[in-house]
Amino acid sequence: MVRVSRVLEGSVAEELGIVPGTELLTVNGRELADFLDWEFLSADEELVIEAKLPSAEEIVYEIERPEGEALGVELEPPTVRRCANRCEFCFIEGLPKGLRKNLYVRDDDYRLSFAYGNFATLSNLKERDFQRILEYRLSPLYISVHATPWEARKVLLNNPRVPNIVEQLTRLAEGGIQFHGQMVIVPGLNDGAVLEQSLADLWNLGEAVLSVALVPVGLTQFSHLYTGKPMSRENARAILDATERWATRALAERGQRWVFGSDELYLLAGEPLPQAEFYGDFDQVENGVGAVSLLRRRVDQGLDGLPRLDGKRIGVVTGLSMGALMPPLLEKLAGKTGATFELIPTMNSMFGPTTTCAGLLVGADIRRALAERNDLDFALIPAETMNDNRIFLDDDSFAAVAAALPIPVYASYDFIDVLSPEGVAVQEAA
Ligand code: SF4
Repeated sequence: MVRVSRVLEGSVAEELGIVPGTELLTVNGRELADFLDWEFLSADEELVIEAKLPSAEEIVYEIERPEGEALGVELEPPTVRRCANRCEFCFIEGLPKGLRKNLYVRDDDYRLSFAYGNFATLSNLKERDFQRILEYRLSPLYISVHATPWEARKVLLNNPRVPNIVEQLTRLAEGGIQFHGQMVIVPGLNDGAVLEQSLADLWNLGEAVLSVALVPVGLTQFSHLYTGKPMSRENARAILDATERWATRALAERGQRWVFGSDELYLLAGEPLPQAEFYGDFDQVENGVGAVSLLRRRVDQGLDGLPRLDGKRIGVVTGLSMGALMPPLLEKLAGKTGATFELIPTMNSMFGPTTTCAGLLVGADIRRALAERNDLDFALIPAETMNDNRIFLDDDSFAAVAAALPIPVYASYDFIDVLSPEGVAVQEAA
């Protein structure tokens, strides 16, 4: 069902009398199953839309609109397709009990892959879905490949009915669909020969595969399904070696690196992180590929615009893994602003000490780290720790955390966003 959640002021939809709660039934005679149908079928300039108003009145709108003018409706969020797998390494299996219900939803939805860049395994793809992907040209997609050898993939996804991904990807490639792939590497299951075969299979799909990210398995103290080995330094190094071999070939033959290790893989291997140029367009930065290098680049680009903040003492809360990477960045910021920055690496109380990335810190961690820090003028916390409603994973809100702390606290993606003359910290201090 496709239902309107909001009608924009002054829009075509408002003029027509469409109101929130209106069900959109058909466009030009084709039934609407979800937001994708609406998105693609309503792109024409001449439209006949059948709808049902909240009063239950059915109505037909005949519309001729100027090219490019949006109809001006927002839709209720779609019902998310659930995942049919039970991966041992599933992050959701590694969540503690008692969090918000929606955090436990295992989505595996090709529509969200296209619309928002969520990774999907394609395990639950039906024939009709393939036809829609091809008809609407849903490209690029973001696909969790994990392994291409069928048996290895069944084991990794813990799903004996998982389809043959090589056949699926070949069909998509032949239909002109491109995708970014990811492989979560589990030592003993999809490193070594399985990794090699998987990269070869993906390479053979040609330009359909835009990039591949290799991400080490991430476990928390709650990952109760996991029976595999943890990622050792040697494993991480071997995976980076394979990455480098394929990237060298890709650079020579296709002019781009094509396959990338995530930042965590470099940290686990004890290898230095590459420069920002290495990552091209940062296609997989959301997957932790090049995130640190992008942060360094943003700081470098924003440094010149920073104001003097002499005498200020600024706390920087981060995860344990960033503890070693931050000092050079903070030195640059201190040199430019005259402020003193204090790094506050903080242990994750919810997922345990093995979870070291900054983005998974929770409200309780921020409270603990800053509770007695009235010696600071203000503190920065990683903005990635919160959702769009500024709620942490432990359901604590930014507003509640900030109110409980003795100093002002600001959520920052890259320091510059808060410390620049337009940034909130500087504005408030002025
Ligand atoms: S595909 Fe695997 S990792 Fe992803 S949600 Fe499903 S079970 Fe979890």
